[in-house]
Amino acid sequence: MANLINGKEIAANVREKVRLEALELKNRTGIIPGLAVILVGDDPASKIYVNNKKKACAEAGFNSFEHLLPASASQDELIALIDSLNADPSVHGILCQLPLPGHIDERAVINAISPEKDVDAFHPVNVGKIMIGSYDFLPCTPAGIMELIHSTGISVSGKKCTVVGRSNIVGKPMAMLLLHENGTVTVCHSKTADLAAECRSADILVAAVGKAKLITADMVKEGAIVIDVGTNRNSDGKLCGDVDFAEVEKKASYITPVPGGVGPMTIATLMRNTLTAAELASKK
Ligand code: NDP
Repeated sequence: MANLINGKEIAANVREKVRLEALELKNRTGIIPGLAVILVGDDPASKIYVNNKKKACAEAGFNSFEHLLPASASQDELIALIDSLNADPSVHGILCQLPLPGHIDERAVINAISPEKDVDAFHPVNVGKIMIGSYDFLPCTPAGIMELIHSTGISVSGKKCTVVGRSNIVGKPMAMLLLHENGTVTVCHSKTADLAAECRSADILVAAVGKAKLITADMVKEGAIVIDVGTNRNSDGKLCGDVDFAEVEKKASYITPVPGGVGPMTIATLMRNTLTAAELASKK
């Protein structure tokens, strides 16, 4: 039976460390880390994410600035708001909750955020820095996953790693971080010819697709570390991942649950990145 990787507990430790470091920064420089969160429209899931981020800021002793725009807001209005936040010294991190309404070009909005305040690490400058292995911010979900893997005490070096999913937010940066730690990485997607075989060869398997029970026990190597990023609803409306947890936990050595695995780490890394942005600003 697999050991459970407790993301909730590990994230709580990261957040406590960030809180103490933020207090130290405030005492030393007077700077309080500030995170601006922009929400366009009233998507219920996005509202929950934004509230969780606000709560995490309060717990870490950060300032949080919420900007709610109607779904009808124009791209120009949104970019004008980002410009003003870029210029505001009390704001160290800017996060625009995705997805945006269809009439707004997501890429143009991401590009408008100053790379020094891009705590999601989505801006092309930060993506490029991650690619070359010299970065200030790590993308929140993949960085959180690396901490979960580290918590097992097993080194990534030399391991066969399979990442299922190639999004800019999760799959691609995940592959890069595993590569930086000397994993031998395969990235799978919807056109992969034999997904089961690619997964079965993995010592470390990361599933980031968004399809419940896509990863079944026959696709998992005995003793593998299995990280489940997916957030789906099952037929009872309950939150579940991409991995058939009940069957796969019998085969894996370590596994993350959904909920309580990767999700809490994403917010913890966002807090860490906002603190890093404030620290960098304090040195200017
Ligand atoms: P995307 O929809 O952007 O990407 C999904 C990826 O899965 C694509 O690369 C797609 O391939 C691939 N895919 C789809 N079907 C298959 C298949 N049958 N076999 C293999 N690959 C397939 O999703 P995200 O990366 O944004 O998110 C993935 C999941 O992770 C979602 O459930 C999301 O909610 C969750 N998530 C959770 C977070 C957390 O904090 N817990 C944070 C971010 C995401 P192709 O490129 O060919 O289309």
